Amino acid sequence: MAAQKNNVMDKLVSLAKRRGFIFQSSEIYGGINSCYDYGPLGVEMKKNIKELWWKSMVYERDDMEGIDASILMHPKVWEASGHVEGFTDPMIDCKVCKTRFRADQIDTSKPCPVCGNRDSFTEARQFNLMFKTYMGPVEDSANIVYLRPETAQGIYVNFHNVREATRRKLPFGIAQIGKAFRNEITPGNFIFRTREFEQMEMQFFVRPDEDEQWFEYWKKERMAWYSRLGLKQDKLRFHEHGKDELAHYAKSAYDVEYEFPFGWNEIEGIHNRTDFDLARHKEYSGKDLRYFDDQSKERFLPYIIETSVGCDRTLLTCLVDAYTEEEERVVLKLDPKVAPIKAAIFPLVKRDGMPEVARKIVNELRGEYRIFYDESGSIGRRYRRQDEAGTPYCFTVDTETLENQTVTVRDRDSMEQQRIKIGEIKSYLAERIK
Ligand code: ATP
Repeated sequence: MAAQKNNVMDKLVSLAKRRGFIFQSSEIYGGINSCYDYGPLGVEMKKNIKELWWKSMVYERDDMEGIDASILMHPKVWEASGHVEGFTDPMIDCKVCKTRFRADQIDTSKPCPVCGNRDSFTEARQFNLMFKTYMGPVEDSANIVYLRPETAQGIYVNFHNVREATRRKLPFGIAQIGKAFRNEITPGNFIFRTREFEQMEMQFFVRPDEDEQWFEYWKKERMAWYSRLGLKQDKLRFHEHGKDELAHYAKSAYDVEYEFPFGWNEIEGIHNRTDFDLARHKEYSGKDLRYFDDQSKERFLPYIIETSVGCDRTLLTCLVDAYTEEEERVVLKLDPKVAPIKAAIFPLVKRDGMPEVARKIVNELRGEYRIFYDESGSIGRRYRRQDEAGTPYCFTVDTETLENQTVTVRDRDSMEQQRIKIGEIKSYLAERIK
């Protein structure tokens, strides 16, 4: 069973490369561990996921603002956040094969899973996951800066900037999408855990006595978002952090988990961070970061409810969820909103004016959707290629088109075909995609 499950991941990795979703970074030089590049289909899909997240978190609400903070920040930010001191994982090495493991992910009473030797592990050491670099030409300790390991801190330090600029009152949130970097000890499972990734994070600022109700609210909201992405319900669940799992800043925390071929794993963290972050930044910056409530005339540090999800991990989740093997085809049953190409247009044959009509349709749809035109090979092969790319709808121009201005539309999942008028294609897509 385990072998079969890994097999699915292997097939997905190979499809992702073959069809241009995801490539190994710097492949011609042998690749670089745990870094990936998004190809033509991958970049579209990632963009769709980010837009859907932004739409639901920012555009559809009236209590949210967005920002885009810089990756490099003042090094004191990471002292205040606790990352310099505490953003560590316990690391152990096998003395025989030199493989490195996360101590909390391995049973040291068993043989090394790579070389099979017993009692070959070193003592666990704490390893800081932040990437360090130097600002300016001098490489000394006074010039150390870090690549941010999360985007959240950029939101905390801008809380009052955003509040003043937008004249917001509690409760309100700040959303951000951006790169984060972690020097993970054991990256792996394709793009599940990488050293460079993108996060979609939201911090919601509330009155301290309203934290629990907002925490419950955001749990529901975020789970509903995954359903709207079209993910299978029975593959999603919450995992509540027990007392021993809770991060130093959290009063309560739930992970949204998905059942991957390699087991149930976190895709998003929802945390009640209390006033930990603003209190620490107040202490380290010496600035009064309290909020003044002009109704109650109180001054206090807001509590923060955080929702934090990896964009790459969401993309992997969508791919895994959509990957389907049927008797004669492999098909990605992606939700049309997430699918990289929304529609493919084919002339049945390369003559009798069919390519011209098909191109005209392409030109009309282009600009609104990513559209693919294909006139080469048998129609069956063309359908199969689009199935693998997750394209939900294929429109074919045939002899009948020339007589009555209709095309066939073929549904990716059911493979059923129906005829519709050329003039109806736009509304057909809009109804199903938006
Ligand atoms: P883990 O315990 O798996 O290392 P975490 O609890 O440290 O993860 P958070 O700090 O809560 O993760 O990060 C929030 C989200 O960011 C995660 O749910 C995940 O979607 C994403 N994420 C975190 N680390 C990585 C990574 N190395 N690669 C890809 N995505 C990541």
